[in-house]
Amino acid sequence: MSRAMPELQRKAVADPPRLRVIESDAPALSIVIPVYNESASLPLLREALEAVLDPLAMSYEIILVDDGSHDESWSAIAAWHAADPHVRALRFARNFGKEAALSAGLFHSRGAGVVLMDSDLQHPPEIIPQFIEKWREGYDMVYAVRTSREGDSALRRGATRAFYRLFGKIAEVDLPPGAGDFRLLDRKVVDILNRMPERLRFMKGLYAWAGCRHVGVPYSPPPRRHGTSAMSLRRLTGFGLDGIVAFSRVPLAISGWIGAAVALLALVFGAYLTLRTLIVGVDVPGYASIMVGIMLLGGVQLLALGVLGAYVGRIYEEIKERPLYVVSETLSASSRSETAETGAREASSSA
Ligand code: UDP
Ligand code: MG
Repeated sequence: MSRAMPELQRKAVADPPRLRVIESDAPALSIVIPVYNESASLPLLREALEAVLDPLAMSYEIILVDDGSHDESWSAIAAWHAADPHVRALRFARNFGKEAALSAGLFHSRGAGVVLMDSDLQHPPEIIPQFIEKWREGYDMVYAVRTSREGDSALRRGATRAFYRLFGKIAEVDLPPGAGDFRLLDRKVVDILNRMPERLRFMKGLYAWAGCRHVGVPYSPPPRRHGTSAMSLRRLTGFGLDGIVAFSRVPLAISGWIGAAVALLALVFGAYLTLRTLIVGVDVPGYASIMVGIMLLGGVQLLALGVLGAYVGRIYEEIKERPLYVVSETLSASSRSETAETGAREASSSA
Protein backbone atom coordinates (compact mmCIF):
# COMPACT_ATOMS: atom_id res chain seq x y z
CA MET A 1 0.00 0.00 0.00
CA SER A 2 2.64 2.50 1.09
CA ARG A 3 4.84 1.55 -1.87
CA ALA A 4 2.02 2.34 -4.26
CA MET A 5 1.59 5.92 -3.01
CA PRO A 6 4.47 7.70 -4.81
CA GLU A 7 3.27 6.19 -8.06
CA LEU A 8 -0.23 7.57 -7.50
CA GLN A 9 1.10 11.00 -6.63
CA ARG A 10 3.33 11.13 -9.71
CA LYS A 11 0.31 10.28 -11.79
CA ALA A 12 -1.63 13.18 -10.28
CA VAL A 13 1.13 15.61 -11.25
CA ALA A 14 1.57 14.16 -14.72
CA ASP A 15 -2.15 14.35 -15.37
CA PRO A 16 -3.12 17.91 -14.42
CA PRO A 17 -6.76 18.00 -13.33
CA ARG A 18 -7.68 20.74 -15.78
CA LEU A 19 -7.05 18.34 -18.66
CA ARG A 20 -9.58 15.87 -17.42
CA VAL A 21 -12.80 15.99 -19.39
CA ILE A 22 -15.87 15.98 -17.18
CA GLU A 23 -18.61 16.81 -19.62
CA SER A 24 -18.12 17.90 -23.21
CA ASP A 25 -18.98 21.53 -22.48
CA ALA A 26 -17.86 21.58 -18.85
CA PRO A 27 -15.60 24.49 -17.92
CA ALA A 28 -12.19 23.99 -16.32
CA LEU A 29 -13.17 26.07 -13.33
CA SER A 30 -16.40 26.84 -11.46
CA ILE A 31 -16.57 29.72 -9.00
CA VAL A 32 -19.35 29.18 -6.46
CA ILE A 33 -20.47 32.29 -4.59
CA PRO A 34 -23.22 32.43 -1.93
CA VAL A 35 -24.99 35.79 -1.86
CA TYR A 36 -27.10 37.11 1.01
CA ASN A 37 -28.02 40.80 0.90
CA GLU A 38 -24.88 41.83 -0.98
CA SER A 39 -26.26 44.15 -3.68
CA ALA A 40 -23.67 46.81 -2.80
CA SER A 41 -20.76 44.37 -3.08
CA LEU A 42 -21.78 42.58 -6.28
CA PRO A 43 -20.58 45.22 -8.81
CA LEU A 44 -17.18 45.38 -7.06
CA LEU A 45 -17.01 41.60 -6.90
CA ARG A 46 -17.75 41.34 -10.60
CA GLU A 47 -14.99 43.79 -11.44
CA ALA A 48 -12.47 42.07 -9.18
CA LEU A 49 -13.36 38.60 -10.53
CA GLU A 50 -13.14 39.62 -14.16
CA ALA A 51 -9.73 41.20 -13.58
CA VAL A 52 -8.48 37.86 -12.26
CA LEU A 53 -10.36 35.30 -14.36
CA ASP A 54 -10.13 36.79 -17.84
CA PRO A 55 -6.29 36.75 -18.04
CA LEU A 56 -6.24 33.10 -16.89
CA ALA A 57 -7.05 31.75 -20.34
CA MET A 58 -9.16 29.00 -18.76
CA SER A 59 -12.79 28.26 -19.39
CA TYR A 60 -14.84 29.09 -16.33
CA GLU A 61 -18.35 29.52 -14.99
CA ILE A 62 -19.56 31.64 -12.10
CA ILE A 63 -22.39 30.17 -10.03
CA LEU A 64 -24.17 32.71 -7.87
CA VAL A 65 -26.52 31.35 -5.22
CA ASP A 66 -28.91 33.93 -3.84
CA ASP A 67 -29.73 32.69 -0.35
CA GLY A 68 -33.10 34.48 -0.06
CA SER A 69 -31.75 38.06 -0.07
CA HIS A 70 -34.14 40.83 0.95
CA ASP A 71 -32.33 43.55 -0.98
CA GLU A 72 -31.64 44.11 -4.68
CA SER A 73 -29.13 41.24 -4.91
CA TRP A 74 -31.25 39.13 -7.28
CA SER A 75 -31.71 41.94 -9.81
CA ALA A 76 -27.97 42.66 -9.64
CA ILE A 77 -27.35 38.94 -10.27
CA ALA A 78 -29.82 38.92 -13.16
CA ALA A 79 -28.09 41.93 -14.72
CA TRP A 80 -24.70 40.26 -14.34
CA HIS A 81 -26.12 37.07 -15.89
CA ALA A 82 -27.55 39.03 -18.83
CA ALA A 83 -24.20 40.71 -19.48
CA ASP A 84 -21.86 37.77 -18.94
CA PRO A 85 -22.36 34.28 -20.45
CA HIS A 86 -20.11 32.77 -17.77
CA VAL A 87 -22.73 33.40 -15.10
CA ARG A 88 -25.34 30.93 -13.86
CA ALA A 89 -27.51 31.62 -10.86
CA LEU A 90 -29.87 29.97 -8.41
CA ARG A 91 -32.32 31.73 -6.18
CA PHE A 92 -33.49 30.16 -2.93
CA ALA A 93 -37.11 30.56 -1.90
CA ARG A 94 -35.94 31.89 1.47
CA ASN A 95 -32.77 32.15 3.55
CA PHE A 96 -31.42 28.63 4.08
CA GLY A 97 -27.94 29.62 5.33
CA LYS A 98 -24.51 29.76 3.77
CA GLU A 99 -23.83 26.03 4.12
CA ALA A 100 -26.95 25.20 2.09
CA ALA A 101 -25.98 27.81 -0.52
CA LEU A 102 -22.50 26.32 -0.84
CA SER A 103 -23.98 22.82 -1.14
CA ALA A 104 -26.31 24.00 -3.91
CA GLY A 105 -23.44 25.67 -5.76
CA LEU A 106 -21.29 22.54 -5.51
CA PHE A 107 -24.19 20.41 -6.69
CA HIS A 108 -24.72 22.55 -9.78
CA SER A 109 -21.04 23.13 -10.58
CA ARG A 110 -19.54 21.38 -13.60
CA GLY A 111 -15.91 22.50 -13.50
CA ALA A 112 -12.91 20.19 -13.10
CA GLY A 113 -12.06 22.44 -10.17
CA VAL A 114 -14.44 24.46 -8.01
CA VAL A 115 -13.55 27.62 -6.10
CA LEU A 116 -15.78 28.56 -3.15
CA MET A 117 -15.71 32.20 -2.13
CA ASP A 118 -17.78 34.84 -0.28
CA SER A 119 -19.46 37.67 -2.13
CA ASP A 120 -18.50 40.39 0.38
CA LEU A 121 -14.95 40.85 -1.00
CA GLN A 122 -13.44 39.42 2.16
CA HIS A 123 -12.11 36.63 -0.03
CA PRO A 124 -9.83 38.46 -2.48
CA PRO A 125 -10.01 36.83 -5.95
CA GLU A 126 -6.34 37.72 -6.50
CA ILE A 127 -5.49 34.51 -4.62
CA ILE A 128 -7.30 32.26 -7.11
CA PRO A 129 -4.25 31.97 -9.43
CA GLN A 130 -2.23 30.66 -6.45
CA PHE A 131 -4.97 28.09 -5.82
CA ILE A 132 -4.77 26.98 -9.44
CA GLU A 133 -1.00 26.73 -9.31
CA LYS A 134 -1.14 24.40 -6.29
CA TRP A 135 -3.97 22.43 -7.89
CA ARG A 136 -1.83 21.87 -10.95
CA GLU A 137 0.94 20.63 -8.67
CA GLY A 138 -1.44 17.82 -7.78
CA TYR A 139 -3.25 18.97 -4.64
CA ASP A 140 -6.95 18.08 -4.50
CA MET A 141 -7.86 20.87 -2.12
CA VAL A 142 -6.20 24.25 -1.72
CA TYR A 143 -7.53 26.55 1.00
CA ALA A 144 -6.78 30.11 2.02
CA VAL A 145 -5.43 30.44 5.55
CA ARG A 146 -6.14 33.67 7.43
CA THR A 147 -3.01 35.21 8.84
CA SER A 148 -4.96 37.78 10.85
CA ARG A 149 -8.43 38.26 12.26
CA GLU A 150 -8.18 42.01 12.66
CA GLY A 151 -11.69 42.66 11.38
CA ASP A 152 -13.27 40.58 14.14
CA SER A 153 -14.21 41.79 17.62
CA ALA A 154 -12.16 40.52 20.56
CA LEU A 155 -15.16 38.52 21.78
CA ARG A 156 -15.60 36.81 18.42
CA ARG A 157 -11.88 36.12 18.12
CA GLY A 158 -11.80 34.58 21.61
CA ALA A 159 -14.92 32.49 20.98
CA THR A 160 -13.54 31.28 17.65
CA ARG A 161 -10.22 30.34 19.20
CA ALA A 162 -11.94 28.46 22.07
CA PHE A 163 -14.19 26.63 19.61
CA TYR A 164 -11.35 25.43 17.40
CA ARG A 165 -9.30 24.35 20.40
CA LEU A 166 -12.24 22.32 21.71
CA PHE A 167 -13.05 20.93 18.27
CA GLY A 168 -9.40 19.91 17.77
CA LYS A 169 -9.48 17.97 21.05
CA ILE A 170 -12.72 16.08 20.65
CA ALA A 171 -13.61 15.83 16.97
CA GLU A 172 -12.84 12.93 14.67
CA VAL A 173 -11.41 15.22 11.94
CA ASP A 174 -8.58 17.78 12.06
CA LEU A 175 -9.37 21.26 10.82
CA PRO A 176 -6.40 23.24 9.52
CA PRO A 177 -6.20 26.36 11.76
CA GLY A 178 -7.29 29.60 10.07
CA ALA A 179 -8.86 27.91 7.04
CA GLY A 180 -12.39 28.89 6.09
CA ASP A 181 -14.61 28.21 3.12
CA PHE A 182 -12.40 30.12 0.68
CA ARG A 183 -10.82 27.24 -1.24
CA LEU A 184 -10.44 25.30 -4.46
CA LEU A 185 -11.70 21.72 -4.62
CA ASP A 186 -10.85 19.22 -7.29
CA ARG A 187 -13.82 17.55 -8.98
CA LYS A 188 -13.21 14.30 -7.12
CA VAL A 189 -13.60 16.08 -3.77
CA VAL A 190 -16.73 17.86 -5.06
CA ASP A 191 -18.19 14.50 -6.08
CA ILE A 192 -17.55 13.14 -2.58
CA LEU A 193 -19.20 16.19 -0.98
CA ASN A 194 -22.16 15.89 -3.34
CA ARG A 195 -22.67 12.31 -2.25
CA MET A 196 -22.88 13.21 1.44
CA PRO A 197 -26.54 12.92 2.43
CA GLU A 198 -26.53 14.86 5.69
CA ARG A 199 -28.78 17.86 6.14
CA LEU A 200 -26.75 19.58 8.83
CA ARG A 201 -23.74 20.57 6.80
CA PHE A 202 -20.75 21.78 8.76
CA MET A 203 -18.75 22.25 5.59
CA LYS A 204 -15.33 22.69 7.21
CA GLY A 205 -15.71 19.30 8.84
CA LEU A 206 -16.97 17.71 5.63
CA TYR A 207 -13.97 18.96 3.60
CA ALA A 208 -11.64 17.49 6.23
CA TRP A 209 -13.59 14.25 6.35
CA ALA A 210 -12.94 13.69 2.63
CA GLY A 211 -9.24 13.44 3.58
CA CYS A 212 -7.61 14.35 0.28
CA ARG A 213 -4.20 15.89 -0.48
CA HIS A 214 -4.46 19.47 0.71
CA VAL A 215 -2.36 22.58 1.17
CA GLY A 216 -2.92 26.10 2.52
CA VAL A 217 -2.16 29.47 0.97
CA PRO A 218 -1.82 32.39 3.43
CA TYR A 219 -3.91 35.55 3.05
CA SER A 220 -5.06 38.39 5.17
CA PRO A 221 -8.79 39.08 4.81
CA PRO A 222 -9.69 42.72 4.19
CA PRO A 223 -12.55 44.16 6.25
CA ARG A 224 -16.06 44.07 4.81
CA ARG A 225 -16.58 47.00 2.46
CA HIS A 226 -20.37 47.09 2.57
CA GLY A 227 -22.98 45.93 5.04
CA THR A 228 -22.39 43.84 8.13
CA SER A 229 -21.65 40.18 8.69
CA ALA A 230 -24.77 38.02 8.72
CA MET A 231 -23.08 35.68 11.16
CA SER A 232 -24.16 36.96 14.59
CA LEU A 233 -22.52 35.43 17.65
CA ARG A 234 -25.75 33.52 18.29
CA ARG A 235 -25.76 32.08 14.78
CA LEU A 236 -22.08 31.19 15.10
CA THR A 237 -22.75 29.40 18.39
CA GLY A 238 -25.48 27.28 16.82
CA PHE A 239 -23.19 26.58 13.88
CA GLY A 240 -20.37 25.54 16.24
CA LEU A 241 -22.73 23.19 18.11
CA ASP A 242 -23.79 21.64 14.80
CA GLY A 243 -20.12 21.06 14.02
CA ILE A 244 -19.34 19.41 17.34
CA VAL A 245 -22.40 17.18 17.30
CA ALA A 246 -21.72 16.17 13.70
CA PHE A 247 -18.08 15.27 14.28
CA SER A 248 -17.77 14.14 17.88
CA ARG A 249 -19.49 11.79 20.28
CA VAL A 250 -17.28 12.89 23.17
CA PRO A 251 -19.95 15.12 24.82
CA LEU A 252 -22.26 12.08 25.00
CA ALA A 253 -19.52 10.00 26.55
CA ILE A 254 -18.62 12.74 29.03
CA SER A 255 -22.04 12.68 30.70
CA GLY A 256 -21.58 8.93 31.14
CA TRP A 257 -18.19 9.47 32.77
CA ILE A 258 -19.54 12.17 35.06
CA GLY A 259 -22.37 9.80 36.04
CA ALA A 260 -19.88 7.05 36.83
CA ALA A 261 -17.69 9.39 38.87
CA VAL A 262 -20.65 10.70 40.89
CA ALA A 263 -21.89 7.14 41.53
CA LEU A 264 -18.42 6.12 42.75
CA LEU A 265 -18.25 9.13 45.06
CA ALA A 266 -21.70 8.28 46.43
CA LEU A 267 -20.57 4.71 47.16
CA VAL A 268 -17.49 5.91 49.03
CA PHE A 269 -19.53 8.48 50.95
CA GLY A 270 -22.14 5.80 51.77
CA ALA A 271 -19.47 3.47 53.13
CA TYR A 272 -18.02 6.32 55.19
CA LEU A 273 -21.46 7.17 56.64
CA THR A 274 -22.18 3.53 57.49
CA LEU A 275 -18.86 3.15 59.28
CA ARG A 276 -19.34 6.42 61.11
CA THR A 277 -22.86 5.41 62.24
CA LEU A 278 -21.52 2.09 63.53
CA ILE A 279 -18.66 3.70 65.43
CA VAL A 280 -20.01 7.07 66.62
CA GLY A 281 -23.78 6.44 66.42
CA VAL A 282 -26.60 8.21 64.56
CA ASP A 283 -25.87 11.76 63.54
CA VAL A 284 -29.01 13.84 62.77
CA PRO A 285 -27.65 17.07 61.28
CA GLY A 286 -26.83 16.63 57.58
CA TYR A 287 -29.02 19.13 55.82
CA ALA A 288 -26.12 20.83 54.00
CA SER A 289 -24.67 17.62 52.58
CA ILE A 290 -28.12 16.41 51.45
CA MET A 291 -28.89 19.70 49.72
CA VAL A 292 -25.50 19.78 48.00
CA GLY A 293 -25.97 16.20 46.86
CA ILE A 294 -29.47 16.83 45.47
CA MET A 295 -28.50 20.01 43.68
CA LEU A 296 -25.32 18.57 42.21
CA LEU A 297 -27.08 15.46 40.97
CA GLY A 298 -30.01 17.50 39.61
CA GLY A 299 -27.60 19.77 37.74
CA VAL A 300 -25.59 16.91 36.31
CA GLN A 301 -28.75 15.13 35.17
CA LEU A 302 -30.13 18.20 33.44
CA LEU A 303 -26.79 18.83 31.76
CA ALA A 304 -26.66 15.26 30.53
CA LEU A 305 -30.23 15.58 29.25
CA GLY A 306 -29.26 18.77 27.42
CA VAL A 307 -26.33 17.03 25.73
CA LEU A 308 -28.57 14.14 24.78
CA GLY A 309 -31.13 16.63 23.47
CA ALA A 310 -28.53 18.30 21.26
CA TYR A 311 -27.89 14.97 19.55
CA VAL A 312 -31.50 13.80 19.43
CA GLY A 313 -32.62 17.11 17.93
CA ARG A 314 -30.08 16.74 15.16
CA ILE A 315 -31.02 13.11 14.53
CA TYR A 316 -34.57 14.40 14.13
CA GLU A 317 -33.36 16.99 11.59
CA GLU A 318 -31.61 14.26 9.62
CA ILE A 319 -34.40 11.69 9.58
CA LYS A 320 -36.99 14.16 8.36
CA GLU A 321 -35.10 14.04 5.07
CA ARG A 322 -36.38 17.38 3.96
CA PRO A 323 -34.55 18.88 1.01
CA LEU A 324 -31.55 21.04 1.95
CA TYR A 325 -33.03 24.05 0.21
CA VAL A 326 -35.77 25.13 -2.17
CA VAL A 327 -34.86 26.75 -5.48
CA SER A 328 -37.40 29.29 -6.72
CA GLU A 329 -35.59 30.52 -9.84
CA THR A 330 -32.61 29.54 -11.95
CA LEU A 331 -30.66 31.46 -14.58
CA SER A 332 -28.77 28.99 -16.71
CA ALA A 333 -25.82 29.49 -19.01
CA SER A 334 -27.24 31.13 -22.12
CA SER A 335 -26.11 28.34 -24.44
CA ARG A 336 -27.80 25.43 -22.72
CA SER A 337 -30.96 24.78 -20.80
CA GLU A 338 -30.69 23.89 -17.17
CA THR A 339 -30.99 20.17 -16.55
CA ALA A 340 -30.69 20.05 -12.81
CA GLU A 341 -31.47 16.68 -11.34
CA THR A 342 -33.71 17.34 -8.42
CA GLY A 343 -32.97 14.55 -6.02
CA ALA A 344 -33.71 14.34 -2.32
CA ARG A 345 -31.36 17.22 -1.63
CA GLU A 346 -33.17 19.84 -3.65
CA ALA A 347 -36.73 21.03 -4.06
CA SER A 348 -38.01 23.48 -6.59
CA SER A 349 -40.84 25.91 -6.00
CA SER A 350 -41.01 27.20 -9.57
CA ALA A 351 -43.81 26.05 -11.83
N1 UDP B 1 -24.24 34.22 3.36
C1 UDP B 1 -25.25 33.42 2.86
N2 UDP B 1 -26.32 33.10 3.65
C2 UDP B 1 -26.40 33.53 4.95
C3 UDP B 1 -25.34 34.31 5.48
C4 UDP B 1 -24.27 34.64 4.66
O1 UDP B 1 -25.22 33.01 1.70
O2 UDP B 1 -27.39 33.21 5.59
C5 UDP B 1 -23.10 34.58 2.50
C6 UDP B 1 -22.77 36.06 2.43
O3 UDP B 1 -23.45 36.71 1.38
C7 UDP B 1 -21.29 36.04 2.17
C8 UDP B 1 -20.82 34.80 2.91
O4 UDP B 1 -21.96 33.96 3.05
O5 UDP B 1 -20.99 35.86 0.80
C9 UDP B 1 -20.20 35.12 4.24
O6 UDP B 1 -21.11 35.82 5.04
P1 UDP B 1 -20.69 36.91 6.11
O7 UDP B 1 -19.74 37.88 5.50
O8 UDP B 1 -21.95 37.46 6.67
O9 UDP B 1 -19.95 36.02 7.20
P2 UDP B 1 -18.48 36.22 7.79
O10 UDP B 1 -17.57 36.61 6.66
O11 UDP B 1 -18.61 37.26 8.80
O12 UDP B 1 -18.18 34.86 8.35
MG1 MG C 1 -17.74 38.19 5.44
